[in-house]
Amino acid sequence: MTDKDLLSRFEYFGKRALDYRNKVIGLLPEVHRRKLYLQRDCTSIYEYAKKSAGLSEEQVSRALNIFKNFTNKPALKRLLEEGTVSVNKLSRVASIATVENERELAAKVQIMSQSAVETFVRDIRQGVSEAEIVRTHKPESNSLFAQDEVRLDEDVRVRLVELKRRGIDINQLLRDVLDRRDEEIAQAKDQIADELSESSSRYIPARVRSILKKEYGQRCAKNGCNKLSENIHHTRRWALDPSHNPNYLAPLCKEHHQIAHSIDVEFHEMRFR
Ligand SMILES: [Zn+2]
Ligand SMILES: [Zn+2]
Repeated sequence: MTDKDLLSRFEYFGKRALDYRNKVIGLLPEVHRRKLYLQRDCTSIYEYAKKSAGLSEEQVSRALNIFKNFTNKPALKRLLEEGTVSVNKLSRVASIATVENERELAAKVQIMSQSAVETFVRDIRQGVSEAEIVRTHKPESNSLFAQDEVRLDEDVRVRLVELKRRGIDINQLLRDVLDRRDEEIAQAKDQIADELSESSSRYIPARVRSILKKEYGQRCAKNGCNKLSENIHHTRRWALDPSHNPNYLAPLCKEHHQIAHSIDVEFHEMRFR
């Protein structure tokens, strides 16, 4: 068997193993409720699940707990019972699920990867609004001169100290520099947008990429996210606005990109429901 064949066989069966495990776990709560394990001479659901499906005690209790949490959340409950979504993902989502948001979460969790779900749940718990995918430039309070935040080169430090000695407001000076930078970027983006010809191509022009790089550096555009950006996301639906206007583009990490698209899907569903 070649390496490629071996890998593809492994992944083929691996995928099925995972799918079947989800199905089995989905059936557990009802087997438990009807106490059917007694018919198989097992004293508990744990013993039965271990013997008949190789599930660990932890897997069983996690599934039962999530099921309890989902009692009044029918959309999420269905995903668990039908084994459509892994218990790993559902247990993350369970921590933020409410009667009000459960339908929305059920739609999202089906199209997000495990790591996107984790990022999404963390963002929500930290109170970051999910619609707020694109930057807001907030001034960085007093932390600028803290050594662990920003290290200044000696020549820069000397010049700033000298200015400060002369009574010049260093913070205001830097604020002005940063504001000017923002303004320059905003102007450059508008100019690029004006000169951009209508495009039917998904290819993002080099100058658009380069202004985004200048604005966001190498990181995800989502506030507070420290991951490297991997995809340039169109914040307006491509189908409605097929352009590469840099004002509506945001470089995102893999996770926030998936999250952005899950919002997109919802919007789409809402419009056509
Ligand atoms: Zn995108
Ligand atoms: Zn991110």
